[in-house]
Amino acid sequence: MISFESADKWYGDYHALQNVTAQVARGEVLVVCGPSGSGKSTLIRTVNRLEEIQKGRILFDGQDVHARNLDLNRFRSRIGFVFQSFNLFPHLSATENIMLAPVSALKRSRGEARDRALQLLARVGLANKADAYPGQLSGGQQQRVAIARALAMDPPAMLFDEPTSALDPEMVGEVLQVMKSLARDGMTMMCVTHEMGFAREVADRVWFMDEGRIVETGDPESFFTSPQSDRAQKFLSDLRAH
Ligand code: ADP
Ligand code: MG
Repeated sequence: MISFESADKWYGDYHALQNVTAQVARGEVLVVCGPSGSGKSTLIRTVNRLEEIQKGRILFDGQDVHARNLDLNRFRSRIGFVFQSFNLFPHLSATENIMLAPVSALKRSRGEARDRALQLLARVGLANKADAYPGQLSGGQQQRVAIARALAMDPPAMLFDEPTSALDPEMVGEVLQVMKSLARDGMTMMCVTHEMGFAREVADRVWFMDEGRIVETGDPESFFTSPQSDRAQKFLSDLRAH
């Protein structure tokens, strides 16, 4: 579903992604972890071309993401992206936030978009918040609306960049619960997260990044119990010490 082929990215002189070659299979749940500044956000943002690469190729569902003639808006609208800050429109209700893109980009009727939005709100456990505005919702609830908003475009894959990092601890679980249910339904997911419990329970594979490279890949059990590289060992012991 997602394929990096010798991808390199520079920010000016800074070599942020170094010769990344790796694949995410259809239906796979991938967790990307690594120290701060290792390039996780950069990597995930190249998949929907929020960041450009300067060398190599990235394919998404057979499409060359960095092709010159790509219809960027149309392409991006097909990939669900959830990040730390939820960025809901404050003047629109939860339902209206979810309806927005299907109506404007997919030309769905408002009635159809509303029905689907209500289904998705139920799916993320917020059927009773359909008319609430973002300001009336907790961080965890807003993040669940953001996930429902992404799902409304029927994306073939979902990208998550530290979706629980900005949340108070008591709200992390409800967001991870929704992500777990997506994983169980077979969604292809690329998740930057340090939630080890999530990784162990639902990830098929883990990529460990450091200094712009994928240093280590493996199934979660072996990665967390016996990381191979010194850098991964240090990262995990720091994480546990926290
Ligand atoms: P992570 O998500 O793993 O914390 P990032 O992908 O955000 O790491 O950043 C990787 C490196 O690239 C860091 O050293 C960061 O400072 C640098 N970087 C990220 N975005 C930019 C940018 N827009 N301009 C210049 N450098 C950047
Ligand atoms: Mg990041």
